[in-house]
Amino acid sequence: MISTPALVAPSAGAPFEARTVEHRDLRDDDVLIDVKFAGICHSDIHQVREEWGSAHFPMVPGHEIAGVVSAVGDGVTKYKVGDRVGVGCMVDSCGECEFCKNGEEQFCSKGAVMTYNGKGYDGEPTKGGYAQQVVVSERFAVAIPDGIELDVAAPLLCAGITVYSPLKRWGAGPGKKVAVIGLGGLGHMAVKLAAAMGAEVSVLSRTDAKKEDGLALGATSYHATGEDGVLDSLKSSFDLIINTVSADLPMQAYIGLLRPLGVIANVGLPSGNYDFAPGAVVGRSRVVAGSNIGGIPATAEMLEFCAEHGIGATIEKISADEVDAAYDRVVAGDVRYRFVIDTATIAS
Ligand SMILES: [Zn+2]
Ligand SMILES: [Zn+2]
Repeated sequence: MISTPALVAPSAGAPFEARTVEHRDLRDDDVLIDVKFAGICHSDIHQVREEWGSAHFPMVPGHEIAGVVSAVGDGVTKYKVGDRVGVGCMVDSCGECEFCKNGEEQFCSKGAVMTYNGKGYDGEPTKGGYAQQVVVSERFAVAIPDGIELDVAAPLLCAGITVYSPLKRWGAGPGKKVAVIGLGGLGHMAVKLAAAMGAEVSVLSRTDAKKEDGLALGATSYHATGEDGVLDSLKSSFDLIINTVSADLPMQAYIGLLRPLGVIANVGLPSGNYDFAPGAVVGRSRVVAGSNIGGIPATAEMLEFCAEHGIGATIEKISADEVDAAYDRVVAGDVRYRFVIDTATIAS
């Protein structure tokens, strides 16, 4: 077994403890990664606090992982020691179903293995990136190009790919008007990526508080949707809306902001249902879509795109003893725009 210092959530909602955890010895296709940075995703908090149904404890969260390969299994061909790699939300899949063969491992028919709070096909609990090392199959490690620093690369592995996929799928690019609802961890990446793709980007946020940031991130306009008349004034304005918000919102009104054939792609997961009349989509052939992360080939492509355009996440770097407080700040919406844990600070 491989022992490594990690931040462990011992039970639902309990404060983190620095403990040594064990990883399997390297299989033929495994790489050992020295984790340098791990992003804090809002879904980490939901799982640590057991807000998404029963979770496995003790838990080592973290699926925004950036580090360096420090050992390889005998059969590894993709990486060598010293390579910079990232790991996102998945660490295994069947590799044989139509979705895996298509590079859409998140839809694996057998069920992809989640990076943490899951079980591998061997029945062992998976452990994520709030640790100094992780072990994964080389198929689920993605090369991080030299053009991106590891700390700002980490959040790309979940937040980045989550918004890159729908932007790509629905054709964000020159001549397209894209709106991003919510300027948080996901939203700030959506603005940067859509702007780099050449789209004209607007931010839709409840208040004006993040206006300066939104424009600095690459948006050309910013609308405070909490103000009277703002949504009305934006009717039929956008080709694509990326909704990153996990709170309930008036879907019908947002659908109304789409031009004919426009698409609203939802990546947030509110607990309530979306409500809209059929006529809101039928009349102008609009699309209400959802999107779930992205496969490994798309993740690699997204990282290349980010390197080419000099894009990383906007982060606040924290040490291991600040993670509990950081969770409260994420829930309060008080982070610009992603916390990243410097894993060297995890006490061994
Ligand atoms: Zn995530
Ligand atoms: Zn599969």
